[in-house]
Amino acid sequence: MAQITLKNLAHSYLPNPQAEADFALKEMDHVWQDGGAYALLGSSGCGKTTLLNIISGIVRPSHGRVLFGARDVTDEETAARNIAQVFQFPVVYDTMTVRENLAFPLRNRGMDAAYIAARVAHIAQMIGMEDRLNRKARGLTADAKQKISLGRGMVREDVNAILFDEPLTVIDPHMKWELRTQLKQLHRQLGHTMIYVTHDQTEALTFADKVVVMYDGRVVQIGTPEELFETPAHTFVGYFIGSPGMNLMEATITGNRAHLNGCEVSLGASYAPVAGRSQIGIRPEYCSLTSGAGLPVTLRRVEDVGRHRIIRADLFGQAFNMIAPEGMAIGADMTRVVFAPDKINVFADDWRVAAQAGGAV
Ligand code: ATP
Repeated sequence: MAQITLKNLAHSYLPNPQAEADFALKEMDHVWQDGGAYALLGSSGCGKTTLLNIISGIVRPSHGRVLFGARDVTDEETAARNIAQVFQFPVVYDTMTVRENLAFPLRNRGMDAAYIAARVAHIAQMIGMEDRLNRKARGLTADAKQKISLGRGMVREDVNAILFDEPLTVIDPHMKWELRTQLKQLHRQLGHTMIYVTHDQTEALTFADKVVVMYDGRVVQIGTPEELFETPAHTFVGYFIGSPGMNLMEATITGNRAHLNGCEVSLGASYAPVAGRSQIGIRPEYCSLTSGAGLPVTLRRVEDVGRHRIIRADLFGQAFNMIAPEGMAIGADMTRVVFAPDKINVFADDWRVAAQAGGAV
């Protein structure tokens, strides 16, 4: 296992990059802890696979260094990095049995037979394939084959890290949930450094201790699921995380007040004068629909999603979402919304602004 350091790392696929836009990965400097479970989360094209491929050695970065522990591995081939990888589509040997497939990475490294047998039995149980160990991989469903790939990725105990690139894409939805949970348990048991690439926030939030959110070639936040939810570092994290995401509105900030469309909203703390384009953000969970005082909203529709309801509305001509508890009656006179003051985030040019110390009101 190893701590992974990304030192002034940047990457351009162009031979002679000039502008920032020429970089698929903008410069980053991060240390990922030994034994951590990280998810790389972001929409398509934001650079997740590029970063994973740089860590695995498939791509050599055009700028900066990659360290495993104290060792600089930037110029090392994938094979020398001692990592396990699980890809989007199954990589299994069709002519081998499930048992042989799982044992392969251990046999390759000359482990003794008793250790291999015990380890294969353990992993087979984790992925729910104990009953099919003697079956040939050929003829198994894509689902089952991908489970074997996951098992092979996790069978070695001596790897520096295990890298997963959207590994549940071919798994059916029910099994996805189960495997996600199993991967998390496995991480707890084995304590490997794990990096999991996905564009699915549920997968990222279930699996990871720390979610690395990427946007346009940049890591915009590394945080626990709770940090991403409560204090998103960037507006992208605000609206990408959550279902629906955070409501964002342009506002002028003066001290502990926000002004939007001639209305005033109390903030939970005071802010120094905000430079640049200022916005406030509030999650749908922290908005209450009321018939009393508040900002005027026009209700569009109510969606019942089981445990709660999503209210789709307009606020000052902009789409606005609220979440209401299942049993709450929504009367025709409920045309105002109130924000929980201490749940409002303030952003300047899309980056979160910290409140002034001792500024709580
Ligand atoms: P996805 O979820 O679609 O796989 P991603 O977040 O993994 O996306 P990357 O595949 O890392 O993103 O791509 C980041 C940027 O780099 C994109 O603009 C992409 O077009 C570009 N890119 C990726 N691979 C190459 C390559 N081999 N040559 C040139 N450009 C590339």
